[in-house]
Amino acid sequence: MRRAAALAGALWLVAAWPAAAELRVLASTTDLKSLVEAVGGGDVMVDSLVPAGADAEAFEPKLSDLARLRAATLIVRVGLGYDAWVDRLIRQAGDTRFFRGGAADVDASVGIPLLEVVGRGLEAQQSGHAHGAANPHYWLDPANADTITAMIAAGIGRVAPALAARVAANRLRFLTALAARTRDWQTRLAPYEGAAVIAYHSSWPYFARRFRLNIVGVIEPKPGIAPSPAHLARLVAAARDVRPRAVLHEPFEPVETARLVATRTGAPLVVLAPSVGSVSGTGDYIALLEHNVAALARALASAE
Ligand SMILES: [Zn+2]
Repeated sequence: MRRAAALAGALWLVAAWPAAAELRVLASTTDLKSLVEAVGGGDVMVDSLVPAGADAEAFEPKLSDLARLRAATLIVRVGLGYDAWVDRLIRQAGDTRFFRGGAADVDASVGIPLLEVVGRGLEAQQSGHAHGAANPHYWLDPANADTITAMIAAGIGRVAPALAARVAANRLRFLTALAARTRDWQTRLAPYEGAAVIAYHSSWPYFARRFRLNIVGVIEPKPGIAPSPAHLARLVAAARDVRPRAVLHEPFEPVETARLVATRTGAPLVVLAPSVGSVSGTGDYIALLEHNVAALARALASAE
């Protein structure tokens, strides 16, 4: 019986970790997981610490996440304070390979032209929200996937040099497909160039810059801080002059507040996906952008 159980256990292990995959990568978010899959192909097993549909900015790692980190060969994180809990996890694991600048550490924000950059002052430290040195939602501009995948490919190249050539070929194929899709997304949103929109959370500056939308107001006074009635009243009053054409809402934010702003401003509420898997039909990075472009184009067309 014991031999049978051991055999079953061994078979389970084989099923969980296919021999074909040489490298285990742990990404902090589903977005980075999808981009690792795009460049790693069948050579890489990748998992994300934050489950699909959960808010990465409010995530707290569990003890089992420490075990997942210890079993990984490479960690890929968003950086900029967005997933600061990765640093705590790495300190707990105590493995110097994962330390900043270590061979097994990839901070995907390195090399991204940042928006909403603030000083690393006392205020930024104390405010307790997830936007530290700059706005961290940079993956929502598809052009930034070029830099992100370059960082991932370099990381894989450091820990598994034998995979470098295949990863470079996968990356080129992915970026070529993404560039074609980006041209299509730009064409579909071109009729709404300069459209004024209000967002619940400041997730969209990179997306808005790429697709030429004008974010005229944010419902949260600071990232992660719920608005006061006075802040909402000011926002709605200011919106009268700019005539917003959509209120951007994310699945895990309180919908009542966004709905109130939509009703008061006469703009339609549109649910956008901030991350891969946060809305159904956003199973990978390209599907995420496709969902957001399609939902936005529908809302803006209806508001004309
Ligand atoms: Zn945020």
